[in-house]
Amino acid sequence: MRKLAAGNWKMNGTAAALAEIAALNARYDSAPVDILICPPATLLSRASDTAGPAIATGGQDCHAAHSGAHTGDIAPDMLKDAGASYVILGHSERRTDHGETDATVRVKTVSALNTGLTPVVCVGETEAERDAGQTLDVIRSQLAGSLPDGLDGAQIVVAYEPVWAIGTGRVPTHDQIEEVHNLMRAELVARFGDSAAETRLLYGGSVKPGNAAEIFALSNVDGALVGGASLKADDFAGIIDALAQA
Ligand code: PEP
Repeated sequence: MRKLAAGNWKMNGTAAALAEIAALNARYDSAPVDILICPPATLLSRASDTAGPAIATGGQDCHAAHSGAHTGDIAPDMLKDAGASYVILGHSERRTDHGETDATVRVKTVSALNTGLTPVVCVGETEAERDAGQTLDVIRSQLAGSLPDGLDGAQIVVAYEPVWAIGTGRVPTHDQIEEVHNLMRAELVARFGDSAAETRLLYGGSVKPGNAAEIFALSNVDGALVGGASLKADDFAGIIDALAQA
């Protein structure tokens, strides 16, 4: 499987930020890993035009419907039309800020797949859940609820993002990351069969150029979902290069 370095720009970036994508494009004619940038929707079309052949673009969310009376929402078809090939779904900020549930994420995942987008489905425990010893149960339950039946594992990407590690500079121990990633692989194989060996499992939460290599050395870590460190081409390139060498 090709590993994946995915950048989530969240609600950051105006036209000037396209220079960062241009810089990545200049650096990677082709790359031994897949590279993805998910800019704000306002930049998606221009980001797709700027990105070049080695860099894919994606949305940060989509509606489950393909069109209709949903003011402010974006259909997966619109993301695709703007050049996207991926969409992040169920990020903890969507779950917290917009009340998204596993069921919401599941219907969006179906819709994204039907539109030809690769969903990057996010799961992760809160700090309180980890402290209560519930991490593995939370991950099992989010995977079970957020993914539809009958998937081909190669069609989806799953990101493990402990909520308490996002944007905080705090990272789980290597054992904690491996424990969750090994569990996710086993759960996916049990549900979707051998094809789940092809599901890219990303770790996300305060990944930086300085800690990327040690995270990418862990079992069942097939890449990263990166927030803050994806905003600057030089930082993101440090992570991409670490993944390429893993
Ligand atoms: C994220 O938003 O998905 C994320 C992992 O953010 P950061 O890398 O900034 O922790």
